[in-house]
Amino acid sequence: MSIIDDAKASRASLSSEELARYSRHLLMPEVSVDGQRRLKAARVLCIGTGGLGSPAALYLAAAGVGTIGLVDLDEVELSNLQRQVLHGTRDIGRPKVESARDRLRDANPNLAIELHDVRFSSENASDLVTRYDIVVDGSDNFPTRYLSNDVCVWARKPNVYGSIYRFDGQSTVFAPHLDGPCYRCLFPDPPAPGTIPNCAEAGVLGVLPGIIGLVQATETIKLILGIGEPLVGRLLHFDALKMKFREFKLRRDAQCPVCGDSPTITEPIDYEAFCGTAEAENESAVPTISVHDLKRKLGQAASVTIVDVREPFEYEIARIEGSKLIPLAELPARFDELEQEKEIIALCKSGARSAHAVQLLQKAGFTQSFNLEGGIDAWASEIDPAMERY
Ligand SMILES: [Zn+2]
Repeated sequence: MSIIDDAKASRASLSSEELARYSRHLLMPEVSVDGQRRLKAARVLCIGTGGLGSPAALYLAAAGVGTIGLVDLDEVELSNLQRQVLHGTRDIGRPKVESARDRLRDANPNLAIELHDVRFSSENASDLVTRYDIVVDGSDNFPTRYLSNDVCVWARKPNVYGSIYRFDGQSTVFAPHLDGPCYRCLFPDPPAPGTIPNCAEAGVLGVLPGIIGLVQATETIKLILGIGEPLVGRLLHFDALKMKFREFKLRRDAQCPVCGDSPTITEPIDYEAFCGTAEAENESAVPTISVHDLKRKLGQAASVTIVDVREPFEYEIARIEGSKLIPLAELPARFDELEQEKEIIALCKSGARSAHAVQLLQKAGFTQSFNLEGGIDAWASEIDPAMERY
């Protein structure tokens, strides 16, 4: 059954331009004019216009979805373009929602686009979600995932989920009101902070979000048309290296705090506190130093060793003068290159890998070792604005 009711669909009429534009859809009895009207009547909220949101929104727009809402607070960066195909080189520095709007409008001028240049948060999430029929979650962090899950459960809107990591991706549709589980049924507790690196730390194959984002777009269109078997209660896992799709059955948990029989969470909570941000937790566990303090030390010619634990290609893009490159994986085998009595400052891109490095150093007896807060990103934004970012 379509998630768009008949009365709403019948109010959407198609112009002759639209009949021609969607002719390949109209030829199929599973879509036809009725289905195309449902697509036009549909309102889809895309959380994020990054790796997953780019292909999802682009194909939904081309397919004739009538209204797409875009939530994103980020600006386009050079390192996004390897996979975020909504944005182009000339968009670098622009708000993502604006470059996304321009691209989507070019793909389909019939589309109504609603821009939400905000962070999806406990304050606005319920209000945003209730204005749409379905949510495509293209977020890349746990607080947003739990938040979008919870508000979708409460608003009885399907939440089309996707996630990507290096060469692997997965997708499902969370919809307890359609007899499926929610995200919390699978993951009642967030992973321990720092245990799951994000794409910025671990990398991702550029084409991977294209595949998973289009699985999300496909499921969205099927739910709007009311055809086929939705990915409700099934988790689709994709392995790009083996080129294999596998499927796992999912079951709703009657004890689930949000969609279970006696829910204990009925309104948005503090999701940052619930998840703990990976870096904050990781960094708080080890001694840290700010980029300003490091700059001061370097100015005083203090005797410090800066150990950069990133990969060689990252070091090539940007580095602090005089720092020593020892990738994290090589660190334990290269302790003998460091002096115990000297102060050691470890750094990486944003502070997560180097926090781990400091833990290793402390255990190995380098008691004077510190983590550079915010990593090379913080150095570039606060000390050296001319530095290349990635
Ligand atoms: Zn649940």
